[in-house]
Amino acid sequence: MNENPYVSVAIDGPAGAGKSTIAKRVAADLGYLYVDTGAIYRTVGYHMSLMGIGPKDKDGIERCIDDVNIRIEHQPDGVQHMILNGQDVTDLIRTPEISMMASGVSAQPCVRAYLLDMQRELAGNHNVVMDGRDIGTVVLPHAQVKVYLTASAEIRARRRWKELTEKGENIRFEDVYTDVVKRDEQDMNRKIAPLKCAADAEVLDCSYLTVEQVVAEMKAIIRRKTGR
Ligand code: C5P
Repeated sequence: MNENPYVSVAIDGPAGAGKSTIAKRVAADLGYLYVDTGAIYRTVGYHMSLMGIGPKDKDGIERCIDDVNIRIEHQPDGVQHMILNGQDVTDLIRTPEISMMASGVSAQPCVRAYLLDMQRELAGNHNVVMDGRDIGTVVLPHAQVKVYLTASAEIRARRRWKELTEKGENIRFEDVYTDVVKRDEQDMNRKIAPLKCAADAEVLDCSYLTVEQVVAEMKAIIRRKTGR
């Protein structure tokens, strides 16, 4: 049973499906808090990389996880700023290296346990649109609305490549494609909280939809499920 008086919208799906873009827009339109949980895992990945700890170094990650102090600042422009031990790392966590680091460290039970409360607390105190990999299955299993947003790997990699190139990164499409496929593989096959579609989630394939169309579809699903 869900005793949370707030509405939770859980959006899960593979890398580059457009979850953040859509979640941010829907949250702004509805006046809900947008929570990008991938950014939290990226921040942990960034910290481990600063400490020289590899993504599979279980002992190293366990040793350092308590030194990770993460604060999330939601700024009026809708951007979720990630503050790691006092430093704003929002822009630093968006590189391909940190994507892979995040995927590696997120498979460690101590990391997932550490971040679970933070995510649940946000949903316990606000109406949220929360996106990630395990929101509908593990973090908020009682969310009123669950959507699994997906698209073909080719299209997801193309979008991610365009985004990185527009930011000035000199990167080959083939490398982005390989990373996206590898990350999905890791995220779907890890033992703990793997990426999968919740049994009660609506699947939304956005391969051939515009952002506007996906936002409209998402809002229609929310209206249907919550009456709002
Ligand atoms: O969503 P984003 O691509 O920023 O997430 C980075 C990585 O963080 C993912 O590849 C995944 O391994 C991990 N993650 C997770 N659970 C979440 C959100 C992200 O394991 N809820």
